[in-house]
Amino acid sequence: MLQAARCLKTEVQKETRKMKDSIAEKTKVRWQVKRMHGQLPRNLNETLEDIELSYRWLKSGDIKGETESAIMAAQDQAISTNSFNNKILKQEIDSQCQLCKQHEETIDHLTSGCLILAKNEYLMRHDKVSKHLHFSIYKTVGIETTDKWYTHMPKPVCEEGDVTVLWNQLVHTDR
Ligand SMILES: [Zn+2]
Repeated sequence: MLQAARCLKTEVQKETRKMKDSIAEKTKVRWQVKRMHGQLPRNLNETLEDIELSYRWLKSGDIKGETESAIMAAQDQAISTNSFNNKILKQEIDSQCQLCKQHEETIDHLTSGCLILAKNEYLMRHDKVSKHLHFSIYKTVGIETTDKWYTHMPKPVCEEGDVTVLWNQLVHTDR
């Protein structure tokens, strides 16, 4: 009797999982076929990008819901930019970037293609990512540093055993 009840419970769990997976798959397909939404999955190239790793940040749940939704909206190009307002909302405004006035003001342009933002904002972003990487190298090699990556202060040169860790150094290479 008890074994029969256990079997039934397992079957119910299997069916529930199957139903949840089916609903998730249908939601994903409905999202991807929308013209404006689902641009990121359509643009991801399976031969160039690791799809599993590209979405891992969504599974870890480390960031707030509001931040996650803002990132998703940006990836779908669904944030109020001049290009979005002109092309999608059909507003009579200039679709060019407000800063450089040379390119369409899209999310892709603002996040990685604007010459004005490249001078400071992109550099700051690059340095933050590099600082996190530098912090991780310190931890891996066993060099003493702070507990949090954002309080870590990279030294220009740090040696530990036969490992030398450089920060912001000019590296001469062949052409
Ligand atoms: Zn621009």
